[in-house]
Amino acid sequence: MAFELKDFNIDSFGLLKILTKNLNDLLWVKDLQGNYIYANQALCDKILLAKDINEPIGKNDNFFTLREQKKYKNIPDWHTFGGLCQISDIDVIQNKKSLKIEESANIKGKLLILEIHKEPFYNSDGEIIGTIGTARDITDLKKTQEKLQKSLKILKEQKKELDYKAHYDLLTSFPNRILFMDRLEQSINLAQRYKRKIAVLSIDLDHFKEINESLGHNIGDKVLLKLSKRLKKEMRISDTLSRLDGDEFGIILNDIDDIENITELLTKKMQTLSAPIYIDTHILYISMSVGISVYPNDGDNAESLLKNAVTAMYKAKSDGRNTYSFYDEAMTEKAFERVFLQTALKKALIEDELIVYFQPQIDAKQNKLIGMEALVRWQHPTMGIIYPDKFIPLAETTGMIVELDRIVMKKALSQFKKWRNSGLNPGKLSLNLAIKQLEKADFLDFLQKLIVTYECHYEEIEFELIESQIMQNPKKSITALKKISALGISIAVDDFGTGYSSLSYLKSLPINKLKIDRSFVQDLPHNDEDAAISKTIISLCQNLNLTVIAEGVENEGQKKFMLENGCDFIQGYFYSQPLCVEDMTECLRRF
Ligand code: C2E
Ligand code: CA
Ligand code: CA
Repeated sequence: MAFELKDFNIDSFGLLKILTKNLNDLLWVKDLQGNYIYANQALCDKILLAKDINEPIGKNDNFFTLREQKKYKNIPDWHTFGGLCQISDIDVIQNKKSLKIEESANIKGKLLILEIHKEPFYNSDGEIIGTIGTARDITDLKKTQEKLQKSLKILKEQKKELDYKAHYDLLTSFPNRILFMDRLEQSINLAQRYKRKIAVLSIDLDHFKEINESLGHNIGDKVLLKLSKRLKKEMRISDTLSRLDGDEFGIILNDIDDIENITELLTKKMQTLSAPIYIDTHILYISMSVGISVYPNDGDNAESLLKNAVTAMYKAKSDGRNTYSFYDEAMTEKAFERVFLQTALKKALIEDELIVYFQPQIDAKQNKLIGMEALVRWQHPTMGIIYPDKFIPLAETTGMIVELDRIVMKKALSQFKKWRNSGLNPGKLSLNLAIKQLEKADFLDFLQKLIVTYECHYEEIEFELIESQIMQNPKKSITALKKISALGISIAVDDFGTGYSSLSYLKSLPINKLKIDRSFVQDLPHNDEDAAISKTIISLCQNLNLTVIAEGVENEGQKKFMLENGCDFIQGYFYSQPLCVEDMTECLRRF
């Protein structure tokens, strides 16, 4: 049979007493003034330090605090019952809400951390008549937590160190082979997505073993460290330089548009590396052999790309070391050809192997010569005449174009002076100018001296700039060209139609002339598309008040088309090929 509490003849206070006697947690009930109505055994023992559970009844926290303070004067931070006490009680009563707080108390010199819950205490009519509180001693829990956190932190640091050791080389602090392969895979993914090329370089120091063997590993390490610093110089952040093993390094070059970029970088690196190394009393000379593989041509995964780069590196070693080799041998050949050409061109500039040809520009309506374009030729001592298409692009990427254009300018102006002095009228001189020239601070100075030396006027010169070069950085071009134009020099846009000019820039550029590119002329008059383009360029010039000239006019039909559509000025084989000085002198006499 079920029983009811009242059968035990016990009031709720007595019941509470029994229920909470052995409870470790603290438990209490206070009235609205903060006086205890009930405080369990644990609260009396641990915090209040009351003699029994009857003592707190009718007393508040202050009573016990003051009593303890008197006893333990020597304990300065005796802030008992922090959270138990009345401030938070008031909060609970006024806002009618539960509270959860963590408080520390210093009881008889011992730190105690309590997790406290307080709640409003309502009577059966729903009115607040006091507060109920419970508290748990979480001191040990906290201590354990702290300890755990500390060990976790140590573990994290250890993991970081292990991670570092697993991915970086300790001597050079470069990424090691594992990280290198990881990055290579990432690079391949990106390159695949954006249809780009990557180069993988395998670098091996020549005869490094001998240094280790004869001078010891200690010196060997010092040498490696010095060399790795040299290798690192001028590397882009986006590229990866790694120590793969011993004296073996690896490089990932992202985003290469041209093998020229690779060979240029390599030539530089090989040069930097080969400078003497001073260690203790030793002077050492070290070179490297490099193998190169290119994604996607030589492999589509990290393993095969590195493997092929290493194969190419061994090829470089067997070619006599201190050199590089592409996995694709045709590329090696191309690269060497380029280096050969570069050296030869440098020599050509110094030893005066460049000559200038001239091609007449004709007013076809009046059958009159209006001027001529200077076109460079390279008179090679053994190979004969080399045409600009073979060496201008190289001159541009290497920066030699600046010097080259100045040589052509000098020669052409000197020839113009001779023609004028002998009573001939060569008209206006058109000079091809690489946009790089305009970036040179001394260019205006150089120009001015030329004008004085060769007794000519700015108005007798025209610069031809290639449309695509102008449009690489139109704002910069506008500024630079304005300075030139202000002198009275006219400016023509060369190869017009191939460089995607924006019309708005075209309007703000200080230009005088457009040259219709040869590619739009060669299939005239039968090709409708080319006819439409040519006509559009001509009417564009009429609207913008620019002169227009057609390049590459080779036959009567093309000439007729131009004249009929309003382009009177013509340059091309129909009138004359580019001529050497003697032939041009003849030509001038005829006109
Ligand atoms: P460009 O400025 O467009 O020069 C015109 C090119 O077309 C010249 O080639 C010329 O010989 C050729 N040409 C002229 N009329 C005809 C024709 O009717 N039919 C055909 N098929 N071709 C014709 P070239 O002399 O080989 O020069 C090639 C390019 O090299 C030039 O193109 C110019 O961009 C560059 N270049 C030449 N000399 C110099 C120079 O001194 N400095 C710079 N920066 N570039 C130069
Ligand atoms: Ca030109
Ligand atoms: Ca042209």
